Amino acid sequence: MYLSRMNTLDVQKYLQSSDTILIPVGSLENHGLHMPLGTDALIPDEIARLLNEKSDILIAPTVNYGATDDLSGFPGTVSIGTEGLIHLLRAICDELYKYGFRRFLILNGHGGNTAAIQAVGIHLYRKGAYLANLNWWLMAGQLNAEWAGGHGGGEETAAIMAVDETLIKREYIDLPESFKNDLSDSLPYAAWQNVSFKGATVTVPREIKDISDNGWLVHSFKGDVPSRASKEWGKEMLSAMADYIADFEKEFAKVRLPERSFPI
Ligand SMILES: [Zn+2]
Repeated sequence: MYLSRMNTLDVQKYLQSSDTILIPVGSLENHGLHMPLGTDALIPDEIARLLNEKSDILIAPTVNYGATDDLSGFPGTVSIGTEGLIHLLRAICDELYKYGFRRFLILNGHGGNTAAIQAVGIHLYRKGAYLANLNWWLMAGQLNAEWAGGHGGGEETAAIMAVDETLIKREYIDLPESFKNDLSDSLPYAAWQNVSFKGATVTVPREIKDISDNGWLVHSFKGDVPSRASKEWGKEMLSAMADYIADFEKEFAKVRLPERSFPI
């Protein structure tokens, strides 16, 4: 059930039997030239749509913007930063809390959002509620190792093929990775924002546009090239995610809520 399609009486009725709500959270950011900017929201939207076919869980409108400062500078990427996402998500959850919601399932599509989601989760915990963060792309890789992947690679490409194949620009699917040793030749690029030195990696936060021409960094997720994606893979994977969340939600609903750790 979609919150935006209900009226206030429907919500009151729902709250008589459940205090759970699912909030998809995405991002608007460059995913390489073969992928749409809305990838990280479009995929959670599709999982939520599949979930809606098999569960009575209430689904809130998707948060389409996220914390993606490192991909800023590629035209079309719009980041609200970690602070922006904390404020937005906390405000949404606090409003829902006011009406009685106590179990918040975040269906997250973007790794950069996790710090903000974690902060809001602790905030809700201190108010006697629980937040569960479902990072779909990590969980999919745990359910099936062949699905594992990352930013703009086979996993996300397969998922977008399942959403709408016409969103994939196939002429760019075989582009070379195109990353640069932007710091120095002695501190070569390792993965994402890391550099390698004497057998270990060190994170040096910087904008990805200075590391890669196209913003696709499959090197971070060994072998996860977008050309290995297929629509069948995407369909199977997103359907498995919807099944998993439907089962998880049932268990999560049985959990006793936390005692408030201090007055609010
Ligand atoms: Zn993504």
